[in-house]
Amino acid sequence: MQYCELGKTGLPVSRLCFGALTIGPLQANLPTDKGAEVVRAALEKGVNFIDTAEYYRTYPYIREALKGWTSDVYIATKSYAYTREGMQESLNNALKELDRDHIDIFLLHEQESILTIRGHWEAMEYLLEAKQAGKVRAVGVSTHCVTAVTAAASIPEIDVIHPLINIDGVGIQEGTVSDMVNAIKTAHRAGKGLYGMKALGGGNLLARYDEAVQFVLDIKELSAVAMGMQNQDEVEYNVRVFNGEMIPSDLASRMMLKPRKLHIDEWCQGCGACVQRCQAGALKVVDGKVKVNNELCRLCGYCGAVCPEFCIKVV
Ligand code: SF4
Ligand code: SF4
Repeated sequence: MQYCELGKTGLPVSRLCFGALTIGPLQANLPTDKGAEVVRAALEKGVNFIDTAEYYRTYPYIREALKGWTSDVYIATKSYAYTREGMQESLNNALKELDRDHIDIFLLHEQESILTIRGHWEAMEYLLEAKQAGKVRAVGVSTHCVTAVTAAASIPEIDVIHPLINIDGVGIQEGTVSDMVNAIKTAHRAGKGLYGMKALGGGNLLARYDEAVQFVLDIKELSAVAMGMQNQDEVEYNVRVFNGEMIPSDLASRMMLKPRKLHIDEWCQGCGACVQRCQAGALKVVDGKVKVNNELCRLCGYCGAVCPEFCIKVV
């Protein structure tokens, strides 16, 4: 496994970052012990970097996976909090639920522009104080927007940027793939640590896995790339690809390289809560039921978290 320093944070992260969204309630919804086994399998293969978020509800999996694990592991998490009190609660929750005395990287979740970063600055100021106090080691933003990467690059207090990037630009907002790559390079020149997300477009690019992964690995300004993994085969497959190792034919045949999709159960009440939540504009209520535009959906699963009827799943 290759390790790269994440900007100026001093954190030597593995190029393959375990994206924890996929094991949790918003996606595979694995039992805690099973999800923890998947995380642990990645750690045993040299992964030392885990990406999660308060919204994902995957802290218990990570805590379980880290029980008895003595090597260094770096955890990045995120919160939508925009007030000082909200961020304090998010940080305390992360420390408690992850059973850690500090969080390595704490990000403002899904920032859209300089305006949203400014709107969350009270929360960021709390994180900066927590950094001074040793409870957080690095702070930053996660984003799907080119303009937010560029804005964050110019903010001295920001250590880390977690941008969405993939070969087809699935889910990139306010710009093209090359705009995002240029923004990443600009941020890197400004000394920011960068790790990418959604290299497979939330599952849409699974059929072109090798090409899609190679595209992000070739962006040398990304110290790491977060990949969602739901089982041990996916861990083994990703580790081998990131290490440039051969894929055994039995592993290749076990891997389900079929595209995922958003499934909406027929008991949808058409309340529209998911439509409001989707920042990709992929959902619309038609004749009393919600419909998804698969071209726009990046399979984040975020809409499922707000459905009062529990009728949205990534399958
Ligand atoms: S429809 Fe749901 S899964 Fe698709 S992009 Fe919107 S919030 Fe994410
Ligand atoms: S939140 Fe659930 S019930 Fe409401 S429109 Fe969306 S899928 Fe249907």
